[in-house]
Amino acid sequence: MPTRKTDPRPGWDEYFMDIAHVVARRSNCSRRSVGAVIMKDNHILSTGYNGTPRRVKNCFEGGCPRCAGKVKSGSHLDECICSHAEQNAICLAAEHGNSIGGGTIYVTISPCLTCAKMIVNAGLAEVVYGGDYAFLDVVGALFREAGVKYRKFAPGAKATASKPKTITKRRKAK
Ligand SMILES: [Zn+2]
Ligand SMILES: [Zn+2]
Repeated sequence: MPTRKTDPRPGWDEYFMDIAHVVARRSNCSRRSVGAVIMKDNHILSTGYNGTPRRVKNCFEGGCPRCAGKVKSGSHLDECICSHAEQNAICLAAEHGNSIGGGTIYVTISPCLTCAKMIVNAGLAEVVYGGDYAFLDVVGALFREAGVKYRKFAPGAKATASKPKTITKRRKAK
């Protein structure tokens, strides 16, 4: 019998987070590039990056006065014309009729409070984030209360995907 070699491929977490970083490269925001990928059963249902809405002048061309100004990161978000990667991924799924309920969103930085609310009400079951953004505590508390799994991406960690979750549930049920 041939010896079983270690799987050389990236784990699912790494796979989707890598894709989210590629998606972020399409961002048109002058402040920050963020990417999001929504997947379910390890299939991509939607992607999104941050920036001004369609048909509106790109943020890097001056389309968003808030981003062009000197406001601090995480502040004056209500005046921002840019929509966030998570919002755009959810909107794109709605436009194309892709059912994302029960899915997982991978996002290159942790969601803001508005995105967190949308994630809860879009029926997403899990959030995996890369870097830390503002609102970590309040967003964490919201997800906990709403029953949305929320975890930081751990590079190199194999795992997740749908199968191990089911196994864990079965074990608990014993
Ligand atoms: Zn912007
Ligand atoms: Zn956001």
